[in-house]
Amino acid sequence: MTPPVAGARAVRLLEAARAAKGFMPDDEGVVLAHLAGLVAAAGCATIVEIGAYCGRSALYLAAGLAGAGGQAGAGGQAGVGGQAGVGARRAPGPPDGCVVLSVDHHHGSEENQAGWEHHDSALVDPRTGRMDTLPAWRATIDDAGAADLVIGIVGDSQLVAAHFPGEAGLVFIDGGHSSEAAWTDYRSWAPKVADGGYLAIHDVFPDPDEGGRPPYELYVRALACGAFEEVGAVSKGSLRVLRRVRPGI
Ligand code: SAH
Ligand code: MG
Repeated sequence: MTPPVAGARAVRLLEAARAAKGFMPDDEGVVLAHLAGLVAAAGCATIVEIGAYCGRSALYLAAGLAGAGGQAGAGGQAGVGGQAGVGARRAPGPPDGCVVLSVDHHHGSEENQAGWEHHDSALVDPRTGRMDTLPAWRATIDDAGAADLVIGIVGDSQLVAAHFPGEAGLVFIDGGHSSEAAWTDYRSWAPKVADGGYLAIHDVFPDPDEGGRPPYELYVRALACGAFEEVGAVSKGSLRVLRRVRPGI
């Protein structure tokens, strides 16, 4: 059971998330918002999402942060009555509160490439002929006025992890679904979940007829290793939410 996300700014961000291009179903996105709110309320500074695409799931997370107040609240005050993208500018001062680090190389997963099921030709850069979701991601975040809550990190998830020495209150894995990509994300990022923090994995399908195996295999491993327990009351659809109960993976 997830309580409704509260506050005017949070509601605006939820609406923007719903309108954004992407793969996150609304009921699962609302779970992400709820988790982000929990993490922010617990005083944790960082949420990491692997797999930004066009910014949809990042806005659900941002909505949760906005609902939790803190830095998000400050941006919300400034944003009241303002134009989207303008009002959300942070007041000068030291960084505080919780942010989402939204990681993606923005060249799409295997399944986003031309000829695959989840290809969108509108996201191809005509200059290079490659997928490039970064312009769409930026427009989504800026138009929603969420630039103080979501920081884009453009790069390969494993490389970013190697240069991210810290811990995260929530790691949300929604990157490539090939076996190699998914396991690399798990090995790179699951160890960074803080004590008591959350590991959320998207596209977990126990029934192979419903979807690919790798995210499910990660989920099974995370539970089997004893470091995580499922928060069954929060998991929704293919979004499985685990909580760190012991160190290691
Ligand atoms: N969370 C998004 C969907 C993500 S789709 C939403 O709510 O709509 C998966 C994304 O993972 C793609 O944008 C792809 O570019 C990214 N991705 C795949 N492999 C990656 C890697 N190794 N490093 C960084 N990003 C990767
Ligand atoms: Mg997904």
